Amino acid sequence: MKPLTRESWLEAHAYLQPVAAFCAEVDRAAAEIETRSPGIPSFEDYSGDFQEGVPLLQSSQARIDLEPAGKAVRLLVQKLASGSSSKRIAADASALDAELRREPEALRHIVDWLIGDESFTPPAPGLLRYLGWTVLSRYLCPMRAAFDRWRDDERWLRNYCPTCGSAPAMAQLVGLDQGRKRLLVCGRCDTRWLFKRTECPFCGNDPQRLAILSVEGEAGLRIDYCESCKGYLKAYAGEGNEAVLLSDWSSLHLDLLAHDRGLKRLAASLYELEPLLVT
Ligand SMILES: [Zn+2]
Ligand SMILES: [Zn+2]
Repeated sequence: MKPLTRESWLEAHAYLQPVAAFCAEVDRAAAEIETRSPGIPSFEDYSGDFQEGVPLLQSSQARIDLEPAGKAVRLLVQKLASGSSSKRIAADASALDAELRREPEALRHIVDWLIGDESFTPPAPGLLRYLGWTVLSRYLCPMRAAFDRWRDDERWLRNYCPTCGSAPAMAQLVGLDQGRKRLLVCGRCDTRWLFKRTECPFCGNDPQRLAILSVEGEAGLRIDYCESCKGYLKAYAGEGNEAVLLSDWSSLHLDLLAHDRGLKRLAASLYELEPLLVT
């Protein structure tokens, strides 16, 4: 089978086009902002925290400098405030820009807030989270690759991201039959990590109560849900089309389907993209 492309997926799912256009606009604007990447931290210094379950970015032992990313986030907000194809986004970005100008410690607040400090209350938090993680994910890319090589996933097996601490946004099933593994996918920093194949990542229930909702003609995408807590995760049961199918936006229609079935999205969401869907 030919690998899917973003274009062929959008041809078959025309209602996703406004969402895809927004994501592409943000990616283009982020790519124009130069940032040097942080150095690779000493993973040996961090290994004690790793054993304890402290994600890399929250570890005081790893000391990763996120401030250059804060600067890049502010520039990205300014770019969208001065011109976006969507009026709603330009207005949200302008409100954010005004707040960040007022705030003397804005750069530090932005990055602390992105990795989980709730004391900052920005306007348009959904937009800031989306823009912020678009920048941070690019910024952290070389470091994340080094972390993937260093990390022993069998020693993590937790229901949150080892890099940034987020709950999973999706799952991917890789391998065949008895050797099949489930990876959880971070919607913020794009890390993928190993998790028990049949346990609910939200309530840790007994594996017998996990159920699958298959969707015809969706290239291996499906919905895995838990009959105890009604939480669900969108899952990609295949390999080769990760670039398209593991982006949360490309399967928003599955979230609508799950919602219609009374299931709850407990997965981390970066931005309320649903209003951009044409319905
Ligand atoms: Zn993450
Ligand atoms: Zn559950």
